[in-house]
This record gives sequence, C-alpha cells and structure tokens, in this order.
Amino acid sequence: MQYDAIIIGGGSAGLMAGIAASKHGASVLLLDKGDKLGRKLGISGGGRCNVTNNKELDDLIKHIPGNGRFLHSSFSNFNNKDIISFFENLGIALKEEDNGRMFPVSDKAKTVVDTLVNQVRKQGVQIRLNAPVDQIMYKDGSVSGVRLKSGDVLRSRSVIVASGGKSVPQTGSTGDGYAWAEKAGHTITELFPTEVPLTSNEPFITSKELQGLSLRDVCLSVWNPKGKKIIEHRGDMIFTHFGLSGPIALRCSQFVVKALKQFGTGNIEVAVDLMPDKSKDEVYKESLSLAEQEAKKTIKNVLKSYLPEKMIPILLQKSKLTDSLTYDHIPKQDWLTLSRLIKHFPIRVYGTLSIEDAFVTGGGVNLKEIDPKTMESKLMKGLFFCGEILDIHGYTGGYNITAAFSTGYTAGENAVLLP
Ligand SMILES: Cc1cc2nc3c(=O)[nH]c(=O)nc-3n(C[C@H](O)[C@H](O)[C@H](O)COP(=O)(O)OP(=O)(O)OC[C@H]3O[C@@H](n4cnc5c(N)ncnc54)[C@H](O)[C@@H]3O)c2cc1C
Repeated sequence: MQYDAIIIGGGSAGLMAGIAASKHGASVLLLDKGDKLGRKLGISGGGRCNVTNNKELDDLIKHIPGNGRFLHSSFSNFNNKDIISFFENLGIALKEEDNGRMFPVSDKAKTVVDTLVNQVRKQGVQIRLNAPVDQIMYKDGSVSGVRLKSGDVLRSRSVIVASGGKSVPQTGSTGDGYAWAEKAGHTITELFPTEVPLTSNEPFITSKELQGLSLRDVCLSVWNPKGKKIIEHRGDMIFTHFGLSGPIALRCSQFVVKALKQFGTGNIEVAVDLMPDKSKDEVYKESLSLAEQEAKKTIKNVLKSYLPEKMIPILLQKSKLTDSLTYDHIPKQDWLTLSRLIKHFPIRVYGTLSIEDAFVTGGGVNLKEIDPKTMESKLMKGLFFCGEILDIHGYTGGYNITAAFSTGYTAGENAVLLP
C-alpha cells in the first residue's frame, strides 16, 4: 500500500499533523515507537498541559527566542487562537492563567492527549504503536517511504518527521530524527539544553542552606565576564540542592549555556534582584529606618520582616555585618553593601543540567533548509519536519507546544497536497 503521508512520531507535532493531513480523507499512517501516543504531552505542564498561550501574535513570537520569527507563516495558517478554537470546537474548554498561559479546565494533560488521539482515530488515521522507524528511504531527490526496525518497508510520497528533540528520552524523544535529516543533506545546528535548571557550587548552594527557598516576583539577570548584563527575567525562582530552578532560572538558562560557550569560561555570574521595584538608595533608607524603628532588636531579627529568612545569614556575612548588631552600631558602609547585595545578589553558575533533563532541546534541523510556508525540506521532495526536531525553542509558558502544533498542522496540510 502507498500512503499519502507517513508521520513519524505521535507527540504534539505528529498528532496535529495527523489531524491536518487526514481532514480531507487522505490515507495517513502515524508511527510511534512507544506503546502509547502523546507521552511527553501527558507529562507536560506538571501533568496539567500548558497547551498554548493567549498572547497576541507579536508577543507570542517574542517568547520563542529560538527562531520564533520563522513561525510567522505557520502561525498565519494555524496559531494560538486556532489551537484554542480547535479544542473548544471539540468540547474541551480551556482556561487562562497568569501570563496568558492556557490549560484545559479539567487541569489534566490527559484530556488534551485523549482529545487529540480520539480525533486522529475519528479521522481515519492508521496508527501503529511499538513501531520504531529505522530509516527514511530516499530515491532520486524524493522520499519513497520508511523502513521500520522490524524490517517492514512502508511506502509513501511524503514523510513527516515529528520525532521530537533529545530531552526526557523516557518519553520516546531520543533524537532519532537528526540522522534521517542529515542523510537527506540537512545540517543540524548545535544541540543544547534549554529551559533547564542552572548548576552552581557556591558554598551556600553546596551547603544546601537555601534549598527549597522560593523567591516570588524577583529579577534574575545573566552577566558576561566583562560585567555587561546579557538578559534579565522577572518572576519566580527556587533554590535547589544543585543550583537554581523555577520559571526565571529556566528562561535564563539558554543565555547561560551560550555565554559559557562564547566566552570559554568555566562559570558565569547570574544575579538576583530581591526588590526589583526599588532602587538601591530606597532599599538602603527603608531597611535602615526599619532598624531605627526597632533600635533594640538585633539586625538579624529586624531583617526577618524584610528579607527571605534563609538568606539573612548569607547576606549579613557577605556584607561583613555581625548579626547581633543593633541600630546604634551599624557601620553605614557595610549597610550600603547589604543594600547593594539585596539588589544584586551574585551567584556563579557553572552550567545546567543535561539535555536529557531539560524541558526543551535547543538547536535542530537548520531552518534555512526548510520552507516556512509548508515545513517541507528544500533539499528532499516529500520530506517534512515539525515540532522540537526543528531549530526552534520557546520559553516555558505554552510556547513550545504551540510551535509544535502550528508546525505540525502546517506540515500535515501540505504533505498531502504534493502533486
Ligand atoms: C516535563 C516537560 C513538561 C513540558 N511542559 C510543557 C508545557 O506545559 N507547555 C509547552 O508548551 N511545552 C512543554 N514542554 C515542551 C513540549 O512538551 C515539547 O516541546 C513538545 O511536546 C514537543 O513535541 P514534538 O511532537 O516535537 O515531540 P515529542 O512530543 O517528543 O514527540 C516525539 C515522538 O516521536 C516518537 N519517536 C521518536 N523516535 C521515533 C522513531 N525512531 N520511530 C517512531 N517514533 C519515534 C516518540 O516516541 C515521541 O512520541 C514540556 C517538556 C517537558 C519535558
């Protein structure tokens, strides 16, 4: 049998590709090496699946720092608003949370996975599970089909590669697709972990004294070795036993990875601003006046109402202030140092967790070699790419699934239109 399209990978991109490809009755085969579909989708968003983001298009693209602009054409075809309508038309209501993040009202990623899988089945897509693909077959500059690890050969005029990146390989994304792309002549831009926790061996990290401390609405910035700020993100973060995690640490991670590489150094400075709405002067005066109002109390106790308690001993030590001091004995210069540290608490980070531990794989199939209107390879007729295998990566917040759905939809629609 000759299929109109074979899709490799039943994750976010592959499932949406299946839906778009089969909507007018084309014969479509979806292959996955796992024993069920949508495994990564099923654990996404902490098990709730942050399925898209409700921001306006320009803003959406800004939150996809890894080549978001490539998505203009694909988004004009199928974007975040279309994703919301898609689920609502199938009876799955979504709700908006902070920063435009959209979740199913059920708060269950399973709802999203089941909806996609049911729709794929309803539209007649054939599904083969436990069917790892070994090779894509090419002949005279065109795709001719795929060969499974079992040896089975399946014929199709178009093949959509939706095999994902390399992150969280337990979900099936083990990076198999990069070799198939290379065999077709594609280049793969360097792969790197992104949206990934940062690692540090600062004494206050290795001692674990800050482990578990969450900081709300602070700023985290990344600094190059020349003392220039590379990027800053505002939001929440958490200290872990190995370093920093939480939304803003994840957002900063790709800049840390790139800076470490660019400057060839073993570590890089990130800094926390604990009070982003106040200047250093304001912090100085405010904290000093607090100490004055409670002149009999030790500064350690005064600061408890002002700073995260676990950080106080570290901040005092770095400012050379003794914690038993009272207001009358505060050395003003050291208090200035304390204020400076509240605004800029430096942490040297030496890297990130591995690509396997990252939320997203940065780098991938070079976009210069892909037609942004169709997701077809410019080098091999009938070969399409979508989802995380492409050199596209967004921040956490629903942007990666949005990119996967959009590119998947566009690839699916176009793969069955081949002359
Ligand atoms: C823990 C976690 C939580 C996340 N939460 C969110 C979130 O809430 N919102 C968001 O926007 N993004 C989130 N992301 C990122 C997002 O899930 C991914 O970017 C997106 O799902 C990628 O989709 P994909 O279809 O390209 O790849 P995948 O979903 O990884 O799917 C690839 C599929 O290809 C199959 N496959 C691979 N090789 C072969 C082969 N040789 N033969 C056959 N099949 C093969 C795999 O089995 C797999 O099913 C999260 C990521 C992680 C790790």
